Amino acid sequence: MTSLAIAANGLRKSYGDKTVLDGVDLAVPEGTVFSLLGPNGAGKTTAVKILSTLVTADAGDIRIGGHDLAADPQAVRGAIGVTGQFSAVDGLITGEENMLLMADLHHLPRAEGRRVAAELLERFDLTEAAKKPASTYSGGMKRRLDIAMTLVGAPRIIFLDEPTTGLDPRSRHTMWQIIRGLVSDGVTVFLTTQYLEEADQLADRIAVLNDGGIAAEGSAEELKRLIPGGHVRLRFTDPAAYRSAASALREATLPHARTGSRGGTPVDEALVLRIPSDGSQRELRSLLDWLDSAGIEADELTVHTPDLDDVFFALTGPAGIPAQTKENVR
Ligand code: ADP
Repeated sequence: MTSLAIAANGLRKSYGDKTVLDGVDLAVPEGTVFSLLGPNGAGKTTAVKILSTLVTADAGDIRIGGHDLAADPQAVRGAIGVTGQFSAVDGLITGEENMLLMADLHHLPRAEGRRVAAELLERFDLTEAAKKPASTYSGGMKRRLDIAMTLVGAPRIIFLDEPTTGLDPRSRHTMWQIIRGLVSDGVTVFLTTQYLEEADQLADRIAVLNDGGIAAEGSAEELKRLIPGGHVRLRFTDPAAYRSAASALREATLPHARTGSRGGTPVDEALVLRIPSDGSQRELRSLLDWLDSAGIEADELTVHTPDLDDVFFALTGPAGIPAQTKENVR
């Protein structure tokens, strides 16, 4: 049985009369990536701050790296590294000096500190820039330096609070590689992100935080399966062809080509019809056969499988998803 790097039960936190976390449970096995997703203001940063000892929870039991956070916060601090949206990088000094400062904070002997700093600067492709003031670094370089600084203390558990917010796609991909590298070294990563694709790419498990609680939790695949978002889109350029297809569809007897449901509603302005479908070869074949027999020829046919965006909007939208579905995932 793998042990848990992070375990929290009944986490609560309010600011004034605003309840931010209303009984949140989290369990993150060692050596995995756990991603906390949620809209702005959902409480992701608050959760990270609590788990990393920066803010005190109103209630809840927390164990980090086997240490009880309330009883021994110092041991927790020794086990973790945190890089937030607001980095610890000091722009006035060089990248190398930032690293050496961290080595001092961790009480590494001078020679050891220099060795670790040089090694990490090399690993994060910052050797060339090491002697330049960090203020001259690009956003991606600053984030890399920030993570390198976090790693000076060789933490086994790392909290990354929106590590790629504001980065260009190339720097984002570099950061993903870095995170994958950490995990292959056995490090546990607790990641908050607004980017669903990021969670999809990196996380073993994803929890969606909404309204003070975890609205759903599972692997990306499990979460996607919750949402009936799979459909085939037929796009027309000729309004008459569109109208006749829409009316044929309304008469259709194909089990998956029903209309009237959310997925079958014609989108008039765009001349698009959405037909619910699981995207399987069998369903597509019968749909294509039916389109042929009904004399419908769309200008474009695309198959859409639900992605994490669909999940996110369904879970964090005003209506949420039916309670019964929520039960099934938790
Ligand atoms: P997220 O990281 O998901 O965007 P946060 O954890 O930053 O969300 O914030 C959650 C809610 O708590 C927000 O409504 C925010 O305004 C509030 N909040 C966070 N920190 C404080 C604080 N120190 N004092 C008062 N309210 C706060």
